[in-house]
Amino acid sequence: MSKPVAVKLAVKNFAQERIRFSISRSSYWYRGFESLSLHQTGTNSQSASDGQLRGIRYSALHRVFSGSGRDLQSPVSTDMRSRGAVRRVVALDMGSVAPPKGHPDFGTLTVIQAFAIDAPGGVVLVDTGLGEAEPAIDALYSPTRRSLAEALLETGLSRERVSAIVVSHLHFDHAGALPEFSGLPIHVQRDERQAARQPRYTVRSRVEAPALRYIEHAGDGEVCEGVRVIATPGHTPGHQSVAIETERGLVILACQAAYTLEEWTERSFQHPAGALSAWDREAYAKSLDRLRAMNPIEVRFSHDRRIWLKMA
Ligand SMILES: [Zn+2]
Repeated sequence: MSKPVAVKLAVKNFAQERIRFSISRSSYWYRGFESLSLHQTGTNSQSASDGQLRGIRYSALHRVFSGSGRDLQSPVSTDMRSRGAVRRVVALDMGSVAPPKGHPDFGTLTVIQAFAIDAPGGVVLVDTGLGEAEPAIDALYSPTRRSLAEALLETGLSRERVSAIVVSHLHFDHAGALPEFSGLPIHVQRDERQAARQPRYTVRSRVEAPALRYIEHAGDGEVCEGVRVIATPGHTPGHQSVAIETERGLVILACQAAYTLEEWTERSFQHPAGALSAWDREAYAKSLDRLRAMNPIEVRFSHDRRIWLKMA
């Protein structure tokens, strides 16, 4: 398949996906070009160079969608050269799960995103997705899985450049591939490690693999220049988000501090809303308020591919 056709198809898939998720709003813009699945278009990402992949990604980006579904020109630059020299932040499509009956999110198809921060010292990975198959999880959640190597490659980043991991929390859909990164520093909240020792919290063998090298934070902390973890307890006792200094302003990876974009923008706690299933609802609301008070220009979520962008 020729490259232009691949791009066209990717944009088409993307548009269909947006329609499914979109709700008419004028208060935010969103885009989701990083979620484009080039592998679905027939593009052979294995043989494409970084430059080629970037070219595809950026041409697809020219279509930006508003909440009303109209096509708009991009209101922001994709290039994020910053004071702290973070070059760009991309979302990684890690697949999805269908929560079982009785689960607070039953009835939704839960997409799973991780993120990659392209920093001068290497790539900082935020969350890792589900990792390899796990019979107990697979029987309940019917997951679709994507590997990190594949997800990284389609954004033009290589697995070999990953130099540190931040894990928002230790649930199986965020920490499932940690064993692939033994030896690298893994930034986590101390309270989260404690929580993960409780029964039925996560897949213990994944988060307690002996070779994992955790760096435990008790509150906010620095990962590298321009990249900080922000303690946002609520969904779990030791949930954390990530704040990234860019030239345009502060980009926040809320992760699961908000479940949907509506929960961020409207304080809407209608289903599906993370507040309803939070370990501590009060802490959840406080953490969200704290992130809002940081005045970000862009916010991204683990389970909602839409991106909140501050209007100029
Ligand atoms: Zn999650």
